[in-house]
Amino acid sequence: MKKGRLWRRAAAFAVIGAALLVWYVRGQAEAPRVLDYAEFWRMAEDGEIEAVSLGEGENWRVKTTEGETALTPNPRAEDGKERLLRLGIRVTEERNAAPGLLLLLLAGAAAFALLRGSGAGGAAGLAKYAAVQTDRTIPEITFRDVIASPETLEGMRDLVGFLRSPGAYARLGARPPRGVMLYGPPGTGKTMLARALAGEAKAPFFAVSGADFVQVYVGVGASRVRELFRKARKAGGGVIFIDEIDAIGKKRDSGNDEREQTLNALLTEMSGFSGLDRIMVVAATNRLDTIDAALLREGRFDRHIEVGLPDAAQRLEILRVHTRNKPVARGVSLPDLAAQTALFSGAQLEALLNEAAIRAARRGADEIGPGDIEKAFCAAAAGDERPTPMTAEEKAVTAWHEAGHAVVTHALLPEDRIAYLTVIPSSRGAAGYTLSIQPDRLLHTRRELIARIAQALGGRAAEEMLLGRDGVTTGAAGDLQRARQIASAMAEEWDMGEGDPREAGRAILEEGFAAARACLAQRKNALARLAEALEEKETLREGEILEALEGEN
Ligand code: ADP
Repeated sequence: MKKGRLWRRAAAFAVIGAALLVWYVRGQAEAPRVLDYAEFWRMAEDGEIEAVSLGEGENWRVKTTEGETALTPNPRAEDGKERLLRLGIRVTEERNAAPGLLLLLLAGAAAFALLRGSGAGGAAGLAKYAAVQTDRTIPEITFRDVIASPETLEGMRDLVGFLRSPGAYARLGARPPRGVMLYGPPGTGKTMLARALAGEAKAPFFAVSGADFVQVYVGVGASRVRELFRKARKAGGGVIFIDEIDAIGKKRDSGNDEREQTLNALLTEMSGFSGLDRIMVVAATNRLDTIDAALLREGRFDRHIEVGLPDAAQRLEILRVHTRNKPVARGVSLPDLAAQTALFSGAQLEALLNEAAIRAARRGADEIGPGDIEKAFCAAAAGDERPTPMTAEEKAVTAWHEAGHAVVTHALLPEDRIAYLTVIPSSRGAAGYTLSIQPDRLLHTRRELIARIAQALGGRAAEEMLLGRDGVTTGAAGDLQRARQIASAMAEEWDMGEGDPREAGRAILEEGFAAARACLAQRKNALARLAEALEEKETLREGEILEALEGEN
């Protein structure tokens, strides 16, 4: 034992000694000229520089066309690389500007490890500090494993080709998407989708979290970004996934240096892609509106794909996927559970099933019974800080409200297309959401504008029909604001009312609301049919909407 320690100590000193010697000899052999920075750029512009090796150290290493090696101060600015590349100068990136120093550090780490008598501890610790840990395997999962809306999946499928065969696009001069921003509530499958993209393209997957880049020491984040891209390039490309990009990509706050440097490093790396790089950066955020606009610009994260909460049918599919390997008793109805779990994310559904399985195991059962599910559901609804599941009443009122907008739109604005109707809140709207696409027009008639007010107030009018004047909810705040805007513009700008503009605005608003009420009163059956379909399915597309609206009567 004692002998072993002695041996290790001797070995450690030998390693350090050797490294010092190498460093000293290198220092003697090369004493390169130092170009001042302005001189360096003059030479670069004049074509006198052949290659530059960028590092994180004090100097850049420069090779002139005459074959001389020189140094120039590292400005630590982010646009240097692009400028050099534009001048046709070969740019390489050094891991560390002083290889001798690196050697010394490594030797130190090795010696430390030897002294501690553990082969790995010291070196592993050092590596952890220097770089973000990423696994770089090709995921097995594909888009079939992720349950998402057709729009989301289409947006993702669209990207596979660029990763698989960038050449086919480059040949036609098509600019490949560089960055993709997935946005939506937590636990909706954004990470899964990014992994599945790599899986489909048979490309390695590199995952990091925005938080990994935010460090106490300025500059560490930026160097981690560069390191990450270097790794991806070395692997011949892949999907780089940055979860919680908010940590570095939030709208400018109080001039945080570290965050800014990291962000700049990221943008520089992304603008350095060529059309033939098989690299795609996928970032995820819960809220698109908090992300710095600079990040979302053309040529950066310019593809935005929403990953929303699942609707009833999608929840059922998710429940099926996650019960594949769980024995579920016959008395358990997954469709019923799907219907009761409005506003649950995929991750919450998965957690609910897991909780139910734990409860079943605890009572020594062979199968998950209805009681286990019910208890897990109550625990999920009570113990979660996220919004509680939507109650059946809330869902019914929201469905009725959205159906009101749709019925008025269909009757009074027949040229509008109603593409989408949902009771699931999305980052685009409040409790429910109606997407109607209006035709482009330069001029609007008074009749059309009244119809627009009626369209906006159709939700409130439908609520009133269902619940009476005292039963209407606060869900119509946005609608009311829109209706008021149109009414006051009609009265004040376009002189479409009578008498005092304020009074006239109010009268116009009344006129619009009356039109909505009259319209719904005549179409009670269509309204009820649509509301019922919406309550059940939670999301309806154009065909289903028209079917409900145009049924008998
Ligand atoms: P996010 O990245 O949006 O926070 P994740 O992809 O990390 O969500 O989801 C966490 C887990 O929840 C997944 O591993 C999976 O088990 C489950 N899950 C979430 N969304 C889905 C979905 N759309 N389809 C199937 N499972 C899902």
